[in-house]
Formats: sequence, structure tokens, C-alpha cells
Amino acid sequence: MQFIRVNRIISSVSYASHCHLYTGAVYACGVPALMISPTLRLIFATSECAPFSKTGGLADVSAALPAALRRLGVDVRILVPAYSSGDAPMRVIATVPASGSFPALSIAEAKLPSGVPVWLLVCPEFYARNGSPYQSPAGTDWPDNAIRFGLLSRVAALIANGAVPGWIPDVIHCNDWPTGTAAAYLHYMPEAHTASIFTIHNLAFQGLFPAPSVAALGLPADSFSIDGLEYYGQLSFLKAGISYADAITTVSPTYAGEIQGESLGAGLHGLLHYRRQALTGILNGIDTVAWNPASDPHIAMNYGAATLADKMHNKRAVQSRAGLQHSHQPLLAVISRLTEQKGIDWIIEIAPALAARSLQLVVLGSGDARYENELKALAEAYPLSIAVTLGFDEPYAHLIEAGADIFLMPSRFEPCGMNQMYSQRYGTVPIVRATGGLADSVDDAATPSGAGFLFYEASAAALLAAVERALLAYRDRTAWRRLQVNGMRRDFGWNASAARYLEIYRRITANRKSLTPIA
Ligand code: ADP
Repeated sequence: MQFIRVNRIISSVSYASHCHLYTGAVYACGVPALMISPTLRLIFATSECAPFSKTGGLADVSAALPAALRRLGVDVRILVPAYSSGDAPMRVIATVPASGSFPALSIAEAKLPSGVPVWLLVCPEFYARNGSPYQSPAGTDWPDNAIRFGLLSRVAALIANGAVPGWIPDVIHCNDWPTGTAAAYLHYMPEAHTASIFTIHNLAFQGLFPAPSVAALGLPADSFSIDGLEYYGQLSFLKAGISYADAITTVSPTYAGEIQGESLGAGLHGLLHYRRQALTGILNGIDTVAWNPASDPHIAMNYGAATLADKMHNKRAVQSRAGLQHSHQPLLAVISRLTEQKGIDWIIEIAPALAARSLQLVVLGSGDARYENELKALAEAYPLSIAVTLGFDEPYAHLIEAGADIFLMPSRFEPCGMNQMYSQRYGTVPIVRATGGLADSVDDAATPSGAGFLFYEASAAALLAAVERALLAYRDRTAWRRLQVNGMRRDFGWNASAARYLEIYRRITANRKSLTPIA
């Protein structure tokens, strides 16, 4: 069994590295010397991290939250697969031998611009492939995803057991299904002192695999039960995280409530409700350095709340790039994965009604072929009003945020969402459906702190009504400026949220230590 091999690896590691401690607490570890360290050690395990790899918001969070935790004094290392051989200058800090279905790999250290060390799993046969981290260029899941991400999870747990000499984490922070089984591996390592926390960024992606994967992953047969990681006869990576982690978080307070109900619980609402004492919703922050209109290098002219008139230059730059006329009509924007979750079908449905009004619409996105084709057809049908760019283009996303007047985000569900926050920071007024993190981060224009427009009903008609409301407000320049400035002044930084994570890390490490027998 793989666990025996795990134990063999740790036997070569200095036991003293188990012994770093927290302020005010002293634990014995079976060695005479006691070390006292006020620093909490954290492995932030994730399947994507900007700028190394990014398919969505998880990559941004994986760079920004560890940076904020580092500012709070946490000794954090990001653990992420190396999807490209030339990721960055790297130094190999450990190797992990082959075991069962898992090939050998090395762990190499690089650094983020924030100074946070990134531990890259270097295993080209598993990770350095053409396509996304999860799928081939043809859009089908890699057939060995269970083992690929099982390996990521397993290495996180191995590090808790000494795989990187001299550095044992107090906490493994697992993110979304690809790292869910780390909590399970850890659960079955009673000798490990490390606590685990599992963050759900999106419950819709569950990491379901056939039952025989349990043995291939080296997980004990008894984990495949209703109280463990079994989900209707399959292995669920997501359920592993929810079942075994010491604490669970999700990325907004509203989503934390929504996923305990049937409609957004994706079949796991019963378990989430059962574990509600361990579940906390913490709103994501954004990277306020990368997303700052006053210094953003990707935009045509920098501006701030006091120089909002300069936003106009960015509007013109977007219009030029999109092939639209330089007009004073309101410029609406969408930057999104083109999927049903994001309400793209509602945007497509109301597009002819929008084109009939005096406005322009730019769309940047990629995703479902059906939506890509329908959006392209709309751009051809209404070339004066609608411009569509298919693909992923980060610099253009910045320019659009700077140049647009109104941002559309009509998600059916939205765990947190980032663009509604970027928009507010750029004085671009968001129209959002009142769900998940959108409800938690956008105040409606009707309130004193209003900076956007919320709608409730899940329908194209409700979206169109919200657009009408925004277009009416847009005509009153003073009222509009109030919305823009309210949004620009709101604090979307990570500091408050990072402090809440730190509170949870401290709580779960204290709980775990109190359960650990003193040798
Ligand atoms: P998701 O559910 O896709 O993670 P989020 O709003 O949380 O949604 O995060 C999406 C992130 O990806 C944002 O940083 C957004 O700007 C970016 N993004 C999405 N689509 C594109 C695109 N086509 N080009 C550039 N950036 C994009």
C-alpha cells in the first residue's frame, strides 16, 4: 500500500522539522529539543496559479491570497503542477519516488512577483501537455485526470509527512476538486500533525471518477463509503475535500448559504448542511496592484476617481480595437467564460433588443461552441453595435474594464466572481444577478453606497429590465458619477479576507494539536 511507502519517505527526514510551534503553545515531538516559532507554515495546494497557469478566477486567487497571507506573517508555499517546461528559473528542492500508479517527480521552487515561493510539481509526462490543465485541445478531459490530480493531492500530503526536508506545514489549504483528496490522504496519516482546510471555488466541478480509481490512488478501501469520498458509486474528489477537511470554506457568504440548498447544492447540499459548523463563506479579494486603473500598464490612459474624465480615452481605445465607432453611446461589456453558468444565453437572447437601442456591446470570451457561434452571428448581424472577440486575452480584458461604462454579469450562480469587483475599481458600473459573491460585492444603485444594478429573477427579461434601469441612470451624469465613485472607493483588497483565513488556520491547528498525543 502507498501509505507504507509514504512512511518510508519520512523516515529520512529530520524529525525536528515537526516541531515548529505557535505563539503561546509548546508541544513535545519525541525529540528533546523544543523549537518555538510564531510562524504558521502553510501549503496552498492548487491546480492553477497566475502567472504560471490560468483558466479562471482560481488562478488569480491562488496568487493573491498567499501574497496577502505572507504580508500577515504566514510562511506560505504554493504547490501547483508545472504545465510548461520553461515556467521560470527553478531550483529542485525535493524528489518523490515512483509509487504504484504514480510516476516519480521533482519539486522545484520558483517565486511569484510577490515573493511567495511556488513549489512546482515537475512531471512532464503528467502535466506538460498541449491544452488546458484539465482538457485536451479537443475539449475532452484528460483520461488520467484522477491520477494527475491525485498526484498533486498526494504530494501535498507527503509534504506534511516530510517529503521536503526541514519544512513541515501546519496547514494544507486545498482548493477545489483537484486537491480534494489531499484531505483524505492526510486523514489516513495519523502521524501527521498537519490540519487541512478545503475551499470550494465552484461546486459545479466535482472531479468524479470510476470506483477503481480509489485503489489506483492508493486510498484505503474504507474511504469509499457514504461518510467518505463515495458519491453514487463513483469517487468524488470534491466530496473527499468536504468530508475529510478540518474546515471548509467557500468564496462568499451568500454562496455558503446557497450550496446548503437543493438548487445550488449540486447533490452535496445534505453533506454541506451537515458540516455547516465547519463551513465559512469568505469573500475573495482581488489583486489591487494588477487591477489598478491609476497604474495599469495595459490601458490607454491611467485615471482615478479624481480624473474620471480620462476614462474616455480608454473607451475610445476599446472602440478602435473592437472596430466600433467612437461614439458617446453607453458601452456595455462582457468578459467571461462562455457557459450557461454565466447567463450567456440571456445576453444572446436580449442582444437584438440591445442593438435596437442607442448603445454598443463588446464581448470577450471563450467557451461553449454554441455560444461562440451565436455571438459571432450577432456581431455580423449588428456590426455597428456588437463586437465579439473569441479567445482569452488578459491585456484586452484590462482595457475593456477601463473603457466600458457598464459591465454585464448575469450569472445563474456565482461562487464569488471577480470581474464585478474589477469593474467597480475601474469606475465601470456592473449589472449583476443577485447570487453568490455578486450579491455580496455589489450594492444596488438604490442604496446610499450603490455602485451597480442587481436583479433577482433568473431570466433574460429580468436582465433586460436591469439594463433599462442602468441606461436611464446613465443619462444623469451626476447620479452616474456617484455610482462610479462609490465603486472605486470600495475596498476589494485581500487583507480582511486573508485575516479571516488566518483565524481559521489557527483554530484548526489548535484543535488538531490538542488531539495529538504528546510523545
Ligand atoms: P470564473 O468562474 O471563470 O473563474 P471569475 O469571474 O471568478 O469567473 O474569474 C474569471 C477571471 O478570468 C477574471 O480574471 C476574468 O477577467 C478572466 N477572464 C475570463 N474570460 C476571459 C477572457 N476571455 N480573456 C481574458 N480574461 C478572461
